[in-house]
Amino acid sequence: MANADNTTKKVPTRRCTGCGEHFPKNTLIRVLRTPDGEIILDLTGKKNGRGAYICKNANCFKKARKSKRIESSLECAISEELYLRMEEELTGGK
Ligand SMILES: [Zn+2]
Repeated sequence: MANADNTTKKVPTRRCTGCGEHFPKNTLIRVLRTPDGEIILDLTGKKNGRGAYICKNANCFKKARKSKRIESSLECAISEELYLRMEEELTGGK
């Protein structure tokens, strides 16, 4: 008989927009388009809006930027300035 009470907890995974690998949602950063149309980095993962997930490293961010995958996920254009600001925030200004 199968045990229906299977309590194995699976952490939801999301695909990184940069490297294309899947990672647990809580290890990724969300680039978010707010209902106001503003693009921000959602470090808490709790804000509302349309999001694209990305690894917390500059390499994946650069890849995603180059391929414009964040823009296609969010369906909006992202300016050079905004990319720079997000990259700084992502890497902690290092
Ligand atoms: Zn990645």
